[in-house]
Amino acid sequence: MPELPEVETVRRQLSEEVVGEVVAGLEVREKKCYEGTQKIEGERIARVMRVGKYLFIYFESGRGLAVHLKMTGRLVVGSEWYEKAAHTRVVIRLLSGRSIYYWDTRMFGYVKVEEEIEKYRQTVKKRLGLEPWEMTVDIWLGKLQKTGRKVKDVLLDQTMIAGVGNIYANDALHLAGVMPTRRANELGQKQGERLLVAVRQVMERGLATNGASDNSYVDARGEKGAYQNEFRVYGKTKKECPSCANQLTYIKVSGRGTWYCSSCQR
Ligand SMILES: [Zn+2]
Repeated sequence: MPELPEVETVRRQLSEEVVGEVVAGLEVREKKCYEGTQKIEGERIARVMRVGKYLFIYFESGRGLAVHLKMTGRLVVGSEWYEKAAHTRVVIRLLSGRSIYYWDTRMFGYVKVEEEIEKYRQTVKKRLGLEPWEMTVDIWLGKLQKTGRKVKDVLLDQTMIAGVGNIYANDALHLAGVMPTRRANELGQKQGERLLVAVRQVMERGLATNGASDNSYVDARGEKGAYQNEFRVYGKTKKECPSCANQLTYIKVSGRGTWYCSSCQR
């Protein structure tokens, strides 16, 4: 699933590609992936924003589109391949002749029209926790102390910290030297702080490489990211720990694949 670095990569590229463009038409090929009125012709794109894993395409009128890529969604600008692709679900035609394609194999994601996009973004923001760079160490330690849940579950809970998914949670825990199954309220202050810093560090690598394309994700130009070449532990069943060469352990934590080094993580 695209996480903060992947969605932010799409946001940055979309901003470069489509801000200032005018919507010329809409083609909903799969109703399941589109919500709201289909009358968006003539709207001019003003900016593209993101909160957690949500994207918001603002129109100058104050309306806009909210997009969530969920498991396998892609938002790609102007590629001929997507015009004919079987899994292209929504096409937004632009006056310039280009198109924005929403493509999704599993169809958990969506494009949704909102009449007041800024208000809607604020609503989403209130529902979610702070993002890794907005979070202060004090707030983070306070959140950890208040729960006896496993620390990996806390990382994946979007109301605790926004934007972290399974890839960056696994890699951040390894970088911080924290066992995924440790209870959040049992972490020491230094470990808790190291974990927040590690989340930022692995996500910075994700951003620098345009995200992880181990699965379905491609960026808004249809290109793969490269963070999958830098995975520390994520997906590395029976591989060596990048720090100590010990064989990594694979378990499931709350049903999600979890990899760790029993010697580096405590
Ligand atoms: Zn190790």
